[in-house]
Parts: sequence; C-alpha cells; structure tokens
Amino acid sequence: MAGMAAVKSEPARILIVGGGYVGMYTALGLQKKLRSREASVTVVDPQPHMTYQPFLPEAAAGSIEPRHVVVPLRRVLRKCHVLTGRVTKISDADKVATVEALDGHVEEIPYDVLVVALGSVARTLPIPGLADRGIAFKTIGEAIYLRNHVLSRLDLASTTDEPELRKRLLTFTVIGGGYAGIEALAELEDMARYALRYYENLDPDDMRWVLVEATGRIMPEVRDSLGVYTVKELEARGIEVYLDTRVKTMEDGHVVLDDGTEYDCDTIIWTAGVKANPVLAETDLPLDQRGRVICTATMQVQGLDGVWAAGDNAAVPDLSKTDVDPAATCSPSAQHAVRQANQLAKNIVAVLRGRKPKPYVHKYAGSVASLGLYKGVADVYGFKAKGFIAWGMHRAYHVSRMPTFNRKVRVAFDWLGSWVLKREVVSLGQINDPRAEFDRVTKS
Ligand SMILES: Cc1cc2nc3c(=O)[nH]c(=O)nc-3n(C[C@H](O)[C@H](O)[C@H](O)COP(=O)(O)OP(=O)(O)OC[C@H]3O[C@@H](n4cnc5c(N)ncnc54)[C@H](O)[C@@H]3O)c2cc1C
Repeated sequence: MAGMAAVKSEPARILIVGGGYVGMYTALGLQKKLRSREASVTVVDPQPHMTYQPFLPEAAAGSIEPRHVVVPLRRVLRKCHVLTGRVTKISDADKVATVEALDGHVEEIPYDVLVVALGSVARTLPIPGLADRGIAFKTIGEAIYLRNHVLSRLDLASTTDEPELRKRLLTFTVIGGGYAGIEALAELEDMARYALRYYENLDPDDMRWVLVEATGRIMPEVRDSLGVYTVKELEARGIEVYLDTRVKTMEDGHVVLDDGTEYDCDTIIWTAGVKANPVLAETDLPLDQRGRVICTATMQVQGLDGVWAAGDNAAVPDLSKTDVDPAATCSPSAQHAVRQANQLAKNIVAVLRGRKPKPYVHKYAGSVASLGLYKGVADVYGFKAKGFIAWGMHRAYHVSRMPTFNRKVRVAFDWLGSWVLKREVVSLGQINDPRAEFDRVTKS
C-alpha cells in the first residue's frame, strides 16, 4: 500500500465500514491527520450516528436523554463522506464493498484502503420463544423501547383487576450477567422502583426481577469479590439471581429454567453475550473460529494489503497477555476499541506515507459499572470500590470518554437536571404506535 500511494496521483480512497467506536474514532483521527488531497475517507453505517453503548443503561433509566448518548456522524466527521447504508458484501480480491443504501438501492464502493469496524451482534441460542419474546440491549432504539415498555407495564398493572395478569406484567427477566445485562437490570429496576411511588395501588414488593446467568459468576470483567458483592447488592434489593442456570424455554412468556423454576413474565431482556457481525461471512477476509477477522498486532488483516480491522469484529493479538497465552486476543470492549482506533488512524497515515505501522499494546485497565442511582462497582488498575464512590467513578470515567465536548456537556446537564428536578418517569409508549390515535379519529 505504501508503494501504491507513493506512485498514485489520485488521493487514496479509504473506506470505513461501520461507524461505531472503531469506525468513528478512526475517521476522526484520519480527518485530523491527513493532508488535503492525501486521501478521501468514506464511512458507511446503517445508522446516522455512533452509539456510546456504556450509557445505554442510563438512557433506559432516564438519567440521560437518549439523543445525547449518540454522536451524529455527519456533524463530527465534517471532512469525511458519510453514507447511511448497510454493507452486505466485501470482495477484497476486487477491492469493492457492496452497500445497500437506506432507500434500498445497491452501490458498489471501490477502495484502496479498507477499515473493517462492523462490531458485534447479540449472540443467540436456539431457545424456544427467544426470537418472539426476547428484547436485546445493544442499540439506542432498544434502550428507548425498554424504558417505555417497563414503565407502561406499571401503567397496565395498575389498571388490571386480574391478579395473575398483574403478576405477569410486573415480572421482568434479564438473561446474561455480563456488564451490559447487570447494568440494564440494575438501572431499570431502580427506575421502576422509583416510579412506583406515583402509583397508589402498586407496591415495590409487587414487582419481581429475575437475573439468569449460565455460569457461576456475574460480570467476568471485574474481580470475583466484586462480582460476589454485586450479587449480594442485587439480592438485597429483592432481585432474584440464578447462577449456573440456563433458560430452557420462554414460549409465550412462560419462562422455564433448567433447575425446574417456572413463571410467567412479560419482559425478557436478552444480554447473553455477543458474536462478531455475521456479515463478515459474506466477505473474502480471513476469519477465525469465532467469525472475527484475523489481524496482526498492527491491526492489518492477515495476508492482505491495505485492509485493517479492530474492535469487536477483529481478533487482534493482546500483546499484554501473549507471554502467558500466545493465542490471546483483545476482549470485545469499548476500552480496546477506542485505543485501537487511535492507533489504527496513526498506522494508516504512517503506511500511506511509507512508514511502518506500530503494534497495538494496552493492558486492560479494569471496569466500572453503575447499579442504579448512587450505586455501583469499580475495579480500575487494582483499585476496588463499591457503592457511591464506584458510581461516581463510573460517571466521571464515562463522561470523560464520551466523544465530543458537545456530548460531554449535554450528558453532564442531563445529570444535573435529574438531580435538581428529580428523575422523569413517564412512559412514552405511544411512540411504538404513533398512528393509533389518528387512526381512531379517522375511523370513528
Ligand atoms: C449495553 C452495553 C454496555 C457496554 N458497556 C461497556 C463498558 O462499560 N465498558 C466497555 O469497555 N465496553 C462496554 N460495552 C462494549 C462496547 O460498547 C463495545 O465493545 C464497542 O462498542 C465495540 O466497538 P466497535 O466499533 O467494534 O463496535 P460498535 O461500536 O458496535 O460499532 C459497530 C458499528 O457497525 C455498524 N454496522 C453494523 N452492521 C453494519 C453493516 N452491515 N454495514 C455497515 N455498518 C454496520 C453498527 O451500526 C455500528 O455503528 C458495552 C456494550 C453494551 C451493548
């Protein structure tokens, strides 16, 4: 690629597929570093924004305005071309990506340099009922939906006279005890508990929140002791935690666990892990057994010229661990994704200018998690914290990491607003069927 760029008079065409953490940060780095006419940068994503996923639980709980959790790509990538569409195929042999644009037309986009940043999708299992009843927790749409859904269950439960229906409406299940699942569970339960003060015929004890985790511990990202603390904290709040337990079926919302427990439930949140974006199977890129693009430590795709990958969809060697485990690769986390993207932008520019790329090295620093207002756990650089301090660390860390000054300020004002004016707990469930009211009027 270095040689190619040196003899070319046309700017190199850099195509970034995926505008999430890796895609957006790489594009930001490139637009800052590239000289004019050195290269053009195009970012393709089906969404017009990057999503700051660690804030999804707070968006679902109403502590942050959902719009402030996403970063508009066109606004921040002023020197790049942003195409709203879905990559359906990549042929590196032809140096072309096939993109289905939002309006449905299909375009073939040629490139000289490709960055594969397609992230991951929810990992599913063949559990009866999962496809019909499960709600994932990875997008801003899902966070908004869940907030309205949970609050509207309270509205529904407060109006019914049928005890069995009320019980079902007030039963919520989260499957998967990674930080996404735990934070979603803890924030939504905290919000629902707070909201119940405004319902005269409902009591917090009427609610049932259940966590089901297939392994013997939750949040593998933090130390064992903090995982144990988190389970105790959740149980003290009345949340039922089932470890070493699997869901056998959830057909029509009837949940059956493999320890024999059975119950009816109206809300099932599925956060049982992620897998690399399956669209990678429609490419001629080398994939590992987990479907991730195989990379070198410089994030160049193995054996290919001008092709780079990072983030959840890439198997990048974790050099901080390879002395103990030579096959170790970076875990799917925002922490790696952001740092990889910064190095990736530098590496692409270096190679365009005929210099050598540098390997990505970062020792995982730990994790912070929010468990609702004023509650949290943290394990950062060996420093362990619980409760209010950990919650403060969570907020301080994430607002510092939130991309762009504009978003940091908006998020900080959202927190200030909720603190001064109290939490907003109204359901806008109407947005799930916005034409219903007009239909009623026109048909009456
Ligand atoms: C609820 C939740 C909480 C989390 N909390 C933390 C945390 O506290 N700390 C932490 O380190 N990590 C956390 N993570 C994980 C972290 O968000 C991911 O590891 C990170 O987003 C990975 O970055 P990425 O760029 O690889 O993927 P993403 O940021 O997911 O970006 C992938 C992009 O590709 C786009 N895309 C998908 N398909 C296509 C297609 N066919 N064509 C074009 N574009 C496509 C998507 O729209 C998306 O914008 C959390 C994740 C979730 C879901």
